Amino acid sequence: EQGAVEEFDVIVVGGGPAGSTAATAVALRGHRVLLLEQQTFPRYQIGESLLPSTVHGVCRILGVEDEVARAGFKPKRGGTFRWGRNRDPWQFSFALSPRLADPTSFAYQVERSRFDAILLDNARRVGVDVRENCRVKGVLADEERVRGVSWSGPGGAPREARAHYVVDASGNGSRIHTEVGGSRTYSDFFRNIAVFGYFAGGRRLPKPDDGNVFCAAFDEGWIWYIPLRDDLTSVGAVVSRENAAGIQRDPVAAWRRLIGSCPEVSDLLQGVPQTTEVPYDQVRVRKDWSYWKPRLWRPGMVLAGDAACFVDPVLSSGVHLATYGALLAARSINSGLAGTLDEGRLFDEFEARYRHEYSLFHEFLVSFYDMHEDERSYFWKARKVTNVGATELEAFVALVGGLASGDASFGGLGEAGARLTTASAELGTAVGRLADSDGLRNPLFESATIREVFQEGAVLQERGVFGGPLEEETPVRPGGLVASEDGLTWVDPARPRP
Ligand code: FAD
Repeated sequence: EQGAVEEFDVIVVGGGPAGSTAATAVALRGHRVLLLEQQTFPRYQIGESLLPSTVHGVCRILGVEDEVARAGFKPKRGGTFRWGRNRDPWQFSFALSPRLADPTSFAYQVERSRFDAILLDNARRVGVDVRENCRVKGVLADEERVRGVSWSGPGGAPREARAHYVVDASGNGSRIHTEVGGSRTYSDFFRNIAVFGYFAGGRRLPKPDDGNVFCAAFDEGWIWYIPLRDDLTSVGAVVSRENAAGIQRDPVAAWRRLIGSCPEVSDLLQGVPQTTEVPYDQVRVRKDWSYWKPRLWRPGMVLAGDAACFVDPVLSSGVHLATYGALLAARSINSGLAGTLDEGRLFDEFEARYRHEYSLFHEFLVSFYDMHEDERSYFWKARKVTNVGATELEAFVALVGGLASGDASFGGLGEAGARLTTASAELGTAVGRLADSDGLRNPLFESATIREVFQEGAVLQERGVFGGPLEEETPVRPGGLVASEDGLTWVDPARPRP
């Protein structure tokens, strides 16, 4: 019925991991959800290396963990890095103890076209009205709140749909994110560009680390090497944004040249051709992906995933942040639709937790870049803690709201800078200790920075595996809320549970 305005409880824009997660988690509580996706799945996307919290936490809550396990994706036990002071590669394992078996300390390397389609099909299965080939053009709003979206379907005719909440999960290229919190703040520190493509195979690291992501720092930046299948390897170079013009003129030549100048990676690819398999036969370029927003919600609308923020791919945090942010948004929406708690309080909880998680990864990544030393390299010299600009530091401190202070009265970079320098030194020390580790404890988890960055992921994993946190969860801030047993809503810990 062309022209009729449809009504829903929630409209989700975008069918990537963030959109599917938000839509499914709301539909699981019996609400009417419309999901509009502009492309037809399966569609190509970058971001293939996952973290355990997505696989064992979010996927379990969404009821899709077994299907993901059956899909035959390459298991990933951690990361191998040629990074830091030492020229020898070192391993980061998800296992807290390398020798003791832990059923959740692995993730997968995924072909995103297949992984994203599994999540979207699951959304459909739990009752989400998923419509592909439907593009959202704008939001419908009055002075009080956002009330829906305008969109067009395959025929191109303009349509409208109304709902109590709109979730923007339309990724990096979102056209509607400016409706919340204005424009994005781009990071100067992470002003990188990536050029990436695929090989029809490649040597693997020795077992059991053959499924690890391998990240190798070289003079001009770093390269990722992701084993997707025996006959498919994703290889991408991350270099300084100043190279953009040259790379865009001839991406294939730039990609080949950069790989050629990183001996660790070119050795693994000796004699292996570029793949001719669609859609992996193209060399692609992405830039300007590190940004955040001053606000992540307004009445009637929330942002999740790349529509909200993203930082840098070296720690494989994109899909984790996207699905985690979407799960937080779904909790606030489910509680809002149930009318149990004040809307402002619900969405402030979403925003505070999401920013906190983002800021942990941001801090960790600055320290991680700082840790690599290469005095002759322009790229690495520019990526030291001392090169985090004052403007970026201030914007970042405002974003995380009190997590760290960039107050100039602390001298130089301020307290935030001091934290980053300490974190970087601590990381370097922990990596140095790997060589004489007893194999019982993972020395990397002796670094507070690493423990913190995996903390929320670990809680999600535990909730997925045991159906709830092992201990009574305390709110992350005074007056804050905690998640319900099933992970789908918020509960006020000060009120008795029904
Ligand atoms: P997306 O996956 O982008 O999905 C958004 C969807 O919205 C798309 O399907 C799009 O078609 C749809 N859409 C857009 N506009 C509209 C509209 N107007 N109407 C309807 N639909 C619309 N992450 C990792 O976890 N691991 C990695 O190894 C990793 N590597 C990366 C490497 C690079 C170079 C980059 C740039 C990123 C990397 N990421 C990685 C990040 C990862 O790609 C993203 O964080 C992740 O895809 C975000 O998911 P999303 O659901 O928010 O958005």
